[in-house]
Amino acid sequence: MSDSSTNQTPEVSIRQLRRTYGDAVALDSIDLDIQPGEVIAVLGASGCGKSTLLRLIGGLDQPTSGTIDIGGVRVNTPGFVMPAEKRPVNMVFQDYALWPHMTVNQIIRFGMRYRKIPKSDWAPRTKELLSLLELDGLGDRFPRQLSGGQQQRVAIARALATNPRLLLLDEPLSNLDSQLRLQMRDELAVILRQVGTTAMYVTHDLQEALTLGDRLIVMRHGKIEQMGTALDIFRRPATPWVAGLVGFSNRVQVEVERALDGRIQVRQGDRRLEISGDSNSVSSGDRMTMMMQPAALSLAEVDKCNSNCITAVVRDCHFEGLSWRLRCAAGDSLLTVHADRSVAPGEMVCIAVPPERARAYPSEAVAAA
Ligand code: ADP
Ligand code: MG
Repeated sequence: MSDSSTNQTPEVSIRQLRRTYGDAVALDSIDLDIQPGEVIAVLGASGCGKSTLLRLIGGLDQPTSGTIDIGGVRVNTPGFVMPAEKRPVNMVFQDYALWPHMTVNQIIRFGMRYRKIPKSDWAPRTKELLSLLELDGLGDRFPRQLSGGQQQRVAIARALATNPRLLLLDEPLSNLDSQLRLQMRDELAVILRQVGTTAMYVTHDLQEALTLGDRLIVMRHGKIEQMGTALDIFRRPATPWVAGLVGFSNRVQVEVERALDGRIQVRQGDRRLEISGDSNSVSSGDRMTMMMQPAALSLAEVDKCNSNCITAVVRDCHFEGLSWRLRCAAGDSLLTVHADRSVAPGEMVCIAVPPERARAYPSEAVAAA
C-alpha cells in the first residue's frame, strides 16, 4: 500500500490514527497524506469508519492515538485537541443542516462573519458562490422554499464561503433521489476542481467515488484496504475483497505454471491463460482464484478461440436490452458474460479474457475475504 509521492508539503498528514470505543475499534492504523488541491474519495460500507475519520480531521471527535496535521499544523497532541472552529476546515453533511430561520444569503454569510472575513467581502463573495453553485436569484429564500438539491448546494456554498484549506463532505448526496444524485455528482466534480480546495469525500457509492476522487481510499473494518487512483482500484484491486467491491464477480480456479516479468501463466481446465499481475509473489504450482468483471469478458469467435480463452457451456441466456447476459459453466464455476447475440443453453462457447483485465489471488485469501 503506497501513497503517491510528491515534493509538496501535504495539506493533511495523518499518522497511525486510531479511535476506539471501549473494546470496539472504529478506526485503526490510518496513515495518509493528502496533497494540496487533491480530492480524496473515501469508499466503504456502512460502519467501516468513514465518518469517524472525517470527524477526527474536522475536530468533532478526539483520536485515541495518532496524529493529524493540517496545513503543517498539528491539530492534536496528547492533552490538546484544536477545537473544530479553530481548524481551517469545513464540513458538509448528508442532512444539509441549514438554519430554517435564515435566508440563503444569511446562511452563506454566517461563517464569514464568524471567521472574521472583512465585511466588504461578504456581498461579492456571496454573489460569486451563488453563481458558482447555480443558485442565482435564490439569495432571499428560506431553506423550506428550496428543493433538496438546491438545499445541498447552499450547504456547499456555506462550507466554501470561508475559503477552508480543507472541505470534508460526508455522504452529501445520500438524501437526493437517484436522478438528482447523478446530476449533482457530476456538477460537484466540476465545482470541486474549479474551486481547487483540498477535499475529502465520503461515500458508500462506487460510482460516486470513481467520479469524484483524484484518489480513492477503500476502507474496511476501520482500516485502509487500498489507496490509489480510480483506475488502480477499478482495474487493479489489491485484494480479493476490493476486487469483489468493484465487480470482479466471476471466479475461476487456476494453477500457476510460470510467473515472470509481470505476467502469470496459469492453467484452467485444459487451457492455458496469461494474466498480468505481481509475478514475484507467486510461484509455479500455486493454486489461485482468477477474478474478472463480467464487462471485461466477451465471447470469442470459435475459429479465433486459440489463446486466453476459457471454454464454457451456456447455462442460461437473458436479453437485457443493450445485450444478452449469459451464465456459463466452466468446471465448477459459473461465469457471467455479456454477448451481442442470443446463445442457446447447452452450446459451447469461448470466453475471451484480456490479460490486463483478470486478477489472480491466492485461493485461501479469496475464501477468507
Ligand atoms: P461509517 O461512517 O463508515 O458508516 P462510522 O465511522 O460512523 O462508520 O462508525 C464506525 C464504527 O464505529 C461503527 O462500528 C460504529 O458503530 C462505531 N461508532 C461510531 N460512533 C460511535 C460512538 N459514539 N460510540 C460507539 N461506537 C461508535
Ligand atoms: Mg458515516
